[in-house]
Amino acid sequence: MGEYVHRLMSQLVSKNPGEPEFHQAVQEVAESVELALRRNPRYIEAKIFERIVEPERVVMFRVPWVDDRGQVQINRGFRVEMSSAIGPYKGGLRFHPTVYLGMLKFLAFEQVFKNALTTLPMGAGKGGADFDPKGKSDAEVMRFCQSFMTELQRHIGQFTDVPAGDIGVGGREIGYLFGQYKRIRNEFTGVLTGKGLSWGGSLIRPEATGYGAVYFAQEMLGTRQDRLAGKTCLVSGAGNVAQYTVEKLIDLGALPVTLSDSGGFIHDKEGIDREKLDFVMELKNVRRGRIQEYAERFPGVEWTPVDPAKHYNPLWSIPADCAFPSATQNEINVEDATNLLAGGVFVVSEGANMPTVPLGIEAFVDAGILYGPGKAANAGGVAVSGLEMSQNSSRRSWSRETVDERLHAIMRAIHNDCWTTAEDYGVPGNYMHGANIAGFTKVAEAMLDQGVV
Ligand code: NAP
Repeated sequence: MGEYVHRLMSQLVSKNPGEPEFHQAVQEVAESVELALRRNPRYIEAKIFERIVEPERVVMFRVPWVDDRGQVQINRGFRVEMSSAIGPYKGGLRFHPTVYLGMLKFLAFEQVFKNALTTLPMGAGKGGADFDPKGKSDAEVMRFCQSFMTELQRHIGQFTDVPAGDIGVGGREIGYLFGQYKRIRNEFTGVLTGKGLSWGGSLIRPEATGYGAVYFAQEMLGTRQDRLAGKTCLVSGAGNVAQYTVEKLIDLGALPVTLSDSGGFIHDKEGIDREKLDFVMELKNVRRGRIQEYAERFPGVEWTPVDPAKHYNPLWSIPADCAFPSATQNEINVEDATNLLAGGVFVVSEGANMPTVPLGIEAFVDAGILYGPGKAANAGGVAVSGLEMSQNSSRRSWSRETVDERLHAIMRAIHNDCWTTAEDYGVPGNYMHGANIAGFTKVAEAMLDQGVV
């Protein structure tokens, strides 16, 4: 660690105590950005990075609601408006019991660089609540969303801040949130993305993050004249990102063999095909059941429950070619990273945000495998959110083919940007440095132009 990073990190940790995910995300970017600062001392004089790590605004609020038994419940809601240097704040909402300020600061910070990489004019934000939609009735989820939006609506708008979904926030929640926004503000605008198709949503938005992560893997493999067809792939999670990662892998002739949720994982050696994926989509999106049911439904599938005594996840020990972590942060620890390498994995494309711990990333980079960091590999979701905003502004909807082509082109451009930036900075093939520096310089230039704000 250089002297600059060391100083920055000690200040950051003392100013933001008890926020380990935020510290981790900043440290990773700072180590890359040090290379850019050496080349551009103006960034140091203008304290660009020191400004980027400080959110422009944080809103924290009470979310009271009444459950089906008539009991009053209280959750805590947040919106972190991190950077508006290149466009309105943009980033998802997460509803999960682990949500707290530090987690949303890490996610909003990652979003700054990710959104810059998409080439679209989007600033960065993230929000959510420590509310757990699991086990709640539709009516409870609706009442919660309405209470959450009653406060959030003061702070967002189509030209100010445009939230989307993330863990625990899918089409159902976006619908309830949008309905309440419209009711209070008396306006029908593109204030949220991930909307339903008949009320302003974009085709391919649900698919975009998963498809994008697979397109990114395809581009990485292309640098070695290789392709996804015939490759055995490990996928974690069973939500939005995991489902559409599996769909695109099937389309491209690869063999996805795993899925997971917080209860454990399934291993289907024969591969998850279209029919099995349809079962998963119905299970997770309609019945809201557990992935264990997959093993009960299809013969020959192994089910491994989470074992709290194990400090590694046996999903990552299965021999394979590619891995698509698509559940949550820090789901691949050092031991998991070592197991992935030992099992033959040579492509990692991160659908989730920061799913690999720093020492795990180091192991991937040292081993010279194709490692696509989340802020590049999973940028397809926010990219299509940007396309949804364009369609809303122009009052038009594009065809599935048009949006998919644009998504594909954006993922290619992101890959190219990471690749050429890494070469330019003397770290060829290092997508992590490439993504961090390319995203940072775009935001830094805009900040220099706009003065000290
Ligand atoms: P989702 O639909 O809510 O699915 C999340 C999946 O991950 C579920 O299977 C969930 O299992 C599992 N999971 C979540 N937290 C977990 C934990 N602490 N331990 C174990 N399993 C956990 O969410 P998603 O939209 O697919 O998001 C997945 C990841 O992709 C997140 O890191 C998110 O930030 C990132 N991402 C999403 C988008 C997007 O467009 N949606 C875009 C960019 C990045 P349970 O149901 O059992 O909790």
